[in-house]
Order: sequence, then C-alpha cells, then structure tokens
Amino acid sequence: MLRLSGLSLPLDHPPEAIPAAICARLGIPREELRGWTLFKRGNDARRRTAIQLVYTFDVDLANEAAVLTRFAGDKDVRPTPDMTYRPPVTAPAGWTGKRPVVIGAGPCGLFAGLILAQMGFRPLILDRGKVVRQRTKDTWGLWRRSELNADSNVQFGEGGAGTFSDGKLYCRVKDPRFLGRKVLKEFVKAGAPDDILWEAHPHIGTFRLVTMVESLRATIEELGGEYRWQTRVDDIALDADRNLRGLHLHDGGFIETDQVVLAVGHSARPTFEMLHTRGVHVEAKPFAIGVRIEHPQAWIDRARFGNCAKHPDLGPAAYSLVHHASNGRSVYSFCMCPGGRVVAATSEEGRVVTNGMSQYSRAEFNANSGMVVAIDPARDYPGGPLAGIALQRRFEDLAYVAGGSNYNAPVQRVGDLLAARPSTAIGEVVPSYKPGVTPTDLSHCLPPFVIEAFREALPVFGRRIANYDHPDAIMTGVETRTSSPVRITRGADLQSLNTPGLFPAGEGAGYAGGILSAAIDGIKVAEAVAHAIVAAR
Ligand code: FAD
Repeated sequence: MLRLSGLSLPLDHPPEAIPAAICARLGIPREELRGWTLFKRGNDARRRTAIQLVYTFDVDLANEAAVLTRFAGDKDVRPTPDMTYRPPVTAPAGWTGKRPVVIGAGPCGLFAGLILAQMGFRPLILDRGKVVRQRTKDTWGLWRRSELNADSNVQFGEGGAGTFSDGKLYCRVKDPRFLGRKVLKEFVKAGAPDDILWEAHPHIGTFRLVTMVESLRATIEELGGEYRWQTRVDDIALDADRNLRGLHLHDGGFIETDQVVLAVGHSARPTFEMLHTRGVHVEAKPFAIGVRIEHPQAWIDRARFGNCAKHPDLGPAAYSLVHHASNGRSVYSFCMCPGGRVVAATSEEGRVVTNGMSQYSRAEFNANSGMVVAIDPARDYPGGPLAGIALQRRFEDLAYVAGGSNYNAPVQRVGDLLAARPSTAIGEVVPSYKPGVTPTDLSHCLPPFVIEAFREALPVFGRRIANYDHPDAIMTGVETRTSSPVRITRGADLQSLNTPGLFPAGEGAGYAGGILSAAIDGIKVAEAVAHAIVAAR
C-alpha cells in the first residue's frame, strides 16, 4: 500500500472525484488503481468561499514500486507504514511476582493498566475517586447544588480529568511508533465512534467517554487487572537506597510493590507535596492562566466557514489563536470546545476553576475556549518546586470570593474588560457556567499583566474572527489548571531521577498535555515497567 497525503477536493464533491483525483495526482491510468481507504480527512477553510476537504488515502496500485520511485522525495507519497502495536515484553509464563501498581485511573493510568494487563502483568490500579457513574453524580452535585466532593469531581475519579470534557483526541507529540493509533483503536473497541480513526481533529464528547471507560475497565479486569476505588495514596515507602518498596494508603493500609506508575494528573496537589517532602526530584514548570471566553457558536461558524456554516462535512467550527503582546506575554486560545459549555472544575474547597466540555454532537448554543497567558517559574513563581501550586491556589481563592463565595464564577463582558470597568449585567451572550455566575471585574482575580495582555489581544483576535471582541462576549474566571505546575523528572528508563521504581507519567508528571498524549505516555511507561520487572528477575 502507498500513503497519499494532502489531496484537496472541494466541499460537496461527488464520490467519483476521489479516484479521479488520486489518479491525476499520481499520474496513473484509472485501471492501475485497485482500491483506496480513507486514512485521514481534515479541511482547509483559509478561503471561506473555496473550502477544501483535505484527504490522506492508503491506495492499492497495480504498479506501486514504479510510482514510489517516480515520487521519491515527495513527502506526500510514501509507503504506508506498519502501524500495528507489538508489546516489546510479555510476562514470563506462570509469572507470580509482585504486581505493578498504577496510581490514577485517568487516560494515562488506564492505558498503563491496559498495556500491563495485555502483557500479562495483572496491574493493580488505585484511584482516590469513585467509579464513573457515582462520580458523575458527585460532579453534578457541584454543578447543580454547589456541593463539592473533594475526592470525586471533574478532576478525580474513574476516567480522570478528561471524562467530562470535549474529548478532543489529537496532540502534537512525535509518535514514530504510532502509539496514538493504538489508543484510538482501543477507544473504538471500547465504544467510541470509528470516525475518530479518520477525522483529522477527532473528538468523543462526555457521555460516550463515560461508557468507554467502563468498557476499558471490563477489559483490564478480564485480563487479570484489579481496581481499587476511593483509595488515595498518601505516602511512599523507600528503602535505604531510595528504591520504592510500597505505598501507604489514606485508610492506613499498605501495598507492597517495587514498580509504581504515578499517573495522578495535574491537580494532585497533596501528592506533589508528599513527593517533595520525601525528597523525590520535583521541579517547577511553566503553565498558563486566564479565563474561558464564550461566544454563540453561530458567530464562530459564520466567521470561519461563511456561507458554508453548518455544512455536515465541516461540523461546528473550532479556532486556534495566539498573540504576542507588547508586555512580553503570549495570549493563546486553549482547549477550544465548539458547541459546549463552561464547567466548574475545582477539586478543592473554597476555590473556583473553569474548564470546558461538550457532547459528541457539539450542539449547545455557545462555543467556549480557554484564553490564557503563558507563565513560567523564573519570572512568575520563583519560590521553589511547588510555588506554581501556591500561585494557582491564590487566584482560585480570589475567583471564589469574586464569584460570591458560593462556587459561582466571576464573569465580565469583553466590552467592560476593554473599558476597564466592572460588569454589572450580562448582555447578549449568556454564560453557560453552572451553578451560576457573578458579573464583576476580573482584574480582582488575575494578575495585571494578564488583563493588560487580554486588552491588547482581544481586538487583534476580533480582526481574525469577526465578533470575537464583541462587547457582550463573556469571560469566566479563572482557568488555572491548563497543565501541571510541576515536572516529576524522569531519566531515560522513565523512572524518577532519584527514586528507582517510581515511574512518573502523564500530565501530572509534566509529560503529557491532553487525553491522547497522556494515554500514549501511559503505554510508554507500561513498557518501561515491564522491562524493569523482567530485568529484576
Ligand atoms: P488525570 O486524567 O488527571 O487522572 C489522574 C487520576 O489520578 C485522577 O482520576 C485522580 O483521581 C487520581 N489521583 C490523583 N491523586 C491520587 C492519589 N494520591 N491516589 C490515588 N489516585 C489519585 N484533554 C484533551 O485532550 N481533550 C479535551 O477535550 C480535554 N478537555 C478537558 C476538559 C476538562 C473539563 C478537563 C478537566 C480536562 C480536559 N482535558 C482535555 C485535559 C485532559 O483531561 C488531561 O490532559 C488528561 O486527563 C490527563 O490524563 P492523566 O491520566 O495524566 O491524569
């Protein structure tokens, strides 16, 4: 098979345009083309009046070798790579060693657990939260009744932080072994729509993620893996040489183990503090803070797709924006959710944090996106490895107070923010955040350099997407959990730099940013754990 990328055809092209375009691009007669399968489809909407669908096909040719020779050096015409996942190690027959433990049942922990189970290592998976159905009820408790459960919420519990999300499944990590493909295929087996295999920007949406993590759980258990819910790891046990020997649980229990995948996510603040106290190498890392911004989805569709808005092959429009402000700060859009809602995403009492989610249909009225400013330890929180957490907490506390000290979030109209006056009412754009919002002045809960950078960026963004800086567009604060504020640094063997047996993984450890990259990292770390177990025999 030969992989042909970058083949553009206009929207609404007839099906027979595909073989014709493949033959024209490869300069072959129709009879040499034996078949084709779709590998990826995206769109190019840079010219709204001539939107193109952009395809990658795997094509079966009568004379493939000759075509490949003719197109040598053309990056869009290559042999189709072998994308099959092959585990590098499997458990020795009759293996009865100490089970590896995975802390965290988010995408990273789930894929570490799945791969370890598929290799025959019967992992034990611990999570401080609850199974996904019970967790859903607790999460709604905050959204509907302003009641937070600090162990079971948007951040904590089965499926991890991305369960109540837009379920976007793409990332920019280098992936020469096609581990992302393995993740997507496992998701499809677990119930995801199979368009995630060929959409250039696939997403799943919240409801489907819930049933998928249940299905993944069943697979892991069938393979000998085991889960323990409401099981928070509060401490690690080390021997005299700092080798990891076990885990202390919140209920006084102890689990003996020599290999631990630490996949605790970016909100596991007490766990980061415990690791730092135990001398595990932790360093501060850059992240970003800001707000969620909302506009009616129809405004974004029209701005991006013009008269083709609502075309079934395009779906609700997304966007990606960046502006380098004159105060030296970069403002960018983050985790954009077309047709979704802004959600309350705190995991700590007395704090307000925003994020976004959507359903598979992306049919809700508003588009939302993080609008954030990059910050870094040298400039913004120089006080040590955990100083980024202190900074997050400071602004989340301020947002709680500005929202009314009842988990309502502070909001401001864009027109008011630009005019440097507090909002006192909502305009045309109705905020979707639940349990509720308080119109106010967001400069009470964000640093001045962030507000300054927003004032410069918004009109710039408004020139790229009409109405982006509409006075009634609404900003909800604060978005502080954009990525982990720490890195739990690991070496080439993927173990902690100074604590052998501890395998920091996923977003919390600073090695992923999003569902897909966290899952890919889970696979890599599971393989490293398997190598370590086999080497230790
Ligand atoms: P997490 O998913 O955070 O999982 C960590 C798990 O560890 C949690 O279940 C937690 O309960 C558990 N844990 C923590 N501490 C302990 C402890 N001491 N003991 C036991 N268990 C513990 N990403 C995308 O790619 N696309 C999106 O559309 C998207 N939307 C998002 C929407 C929302 C509302 C949120 C909050 C996040 C979203 N993200 C999205 C980000 C994505 O969810 C994360 O990048 C991803 O979940 C990280 O995976 P992880 O496995 O590393 O950690």
